[in-house]
Amino acid sequence: MNYTTICQPDNRPDSDGFYGNFGGAFVPEMLQHKLLELRENYQQILSENGFQKQFQKLLRDYVGRPTPLYEAVNLSKKYDAKILLKREDLTHTGAHKINNTVGQILLAQRLGKKRIIAETGAGQHGVATATVCALMQLECVIYMGAKDMQRQLPNVLRMQMLGAEVRPSKSGSQTLKDATNEAIRDWISNPIDTYYIIGSAIGPHPYPDLVAQLQAIISQEIKQQIQQNFDREAPDKVIACVGGGSNAAGAFFHFIENKKVELIGVEASGMGIESGKSAATLHLGSKGILHGCMIPLMQTADGQVIEPHSISAGLDYPGIGPLHAHLFESGRAKYLHATDQEAMDAAFELSRLEGIIPALESAHAFAALAKLKLKKEEIVVINLSGRGDKDLETYKNHFSHA
Ligand SMILES: *Cc1c(COP(=O)(O)O)cnc(C)c1O
Repeated sequence: MNYTTICQPDNRPDSDGFYGNFGGAFVPEMLQHKLLELRENYQQILSENGFQKQFQKLLRDYVGRPTPLYEAVNLSKKYDAKILLKREDLTHTGAHKINNTVGQILLAQRLGKKRIIAETGAGQHGVATATVCALMQLECVIYMGAKDMQRQLPNVLRMQMLGAEVRPSKSGSQTLKDATNEAIRDWISNPIDTYYIIGSAIGPHPYPDLVAQLQAIISQEIKQQIQQNFDREAPDKVIACVGGGSNAAGAFFHFIENKKVELIGVEASGMGIESGKSAATLHLGSKGILHGCMIPLMQTADGQVIEPHSISAGLDYPGIGPLHAHLFESGRAKYLHATDQEAMDAAFELSRLEGIIPALESAHAFAALAKLKLKKEEIVVINLSGRGDKDLETYKNHFSHA
């Protein structure tokens, strides 16, 4: 019997991959044995000394961890609380996604895989995957919607520079959903040597748990940094933006059991919750199956997935990972939403007050500050999931209003 069935902590799924009513692995038979291989091995490999040693060393010397927990003095003054920023934007490649791809490439190596595939929407996960494939000298194929390739040309060039092959998906809407379908088709037709790196805390079991554990380094460091520098056990609040949910899962992970810590996720509500152009899945979704996983998703009455909208490509996902669906349903975490405009304003505010240009995704977390009533003595940690260089083109269109 495995540990999780005897004593299941709130941050881990049961042995079938369920967090409460969400999760599981709903995949065609041809994929079941591939997942079984991963399911039977991932936890043991993650727990091995050799794995942990190599993972921690790469996180330190290659990724640049621990990332600072920076006290944002001007922002703190404005919102009248102690606001600390977890600087994932300072990691190699500029976002938290690298924590996950470094971990999964080590896992793939230990499973004897020679070829890596991934899908990417905005290109961030594709770049993080191409990076670790170059590092480990493994063949890398990235599926990307043809339309996304046009919109995200700098990231396509980065992936190619790193030696990856970027394959355009020309079917359907030519975006993330189609790239995902083609990656899955590739996985099915290359059953022996290929490993599929999923980039968020989504997909069939065990991926959501695997990704959450690899990103948990974020909350592990926050906890240590708070204890060392503020002589406290934990912060009062942790705030993170939520697309599929990996940076938030990592920032929450070690605080989920400590009920005194308020956990706040921020979804993207695009043009507004009621506008029909939104990505606030928890607020608008209903239970269904997407990418092999039972989760809340935005769908029509007859089960067609509704195209999400957010100004930030990384939050533009019609579902949300099962851990967050469970934390929402159980009330353990609270989920707010921020519009495109609110995220834009928050990005300008952070840039002008602290000299830090955030990724548009991360800016949604900062938009929560104006929606919360903070107390002066409170310690509030915001996970700054990535840097904003990639979003300058979008920010530019806002300059006249700023
Ligand atoms: C991809 C991305 C996100 C959204 O993904 P999660 O899995 O929800 O974390 C958030 N921030 C940045 C900077 C990203 O690149």
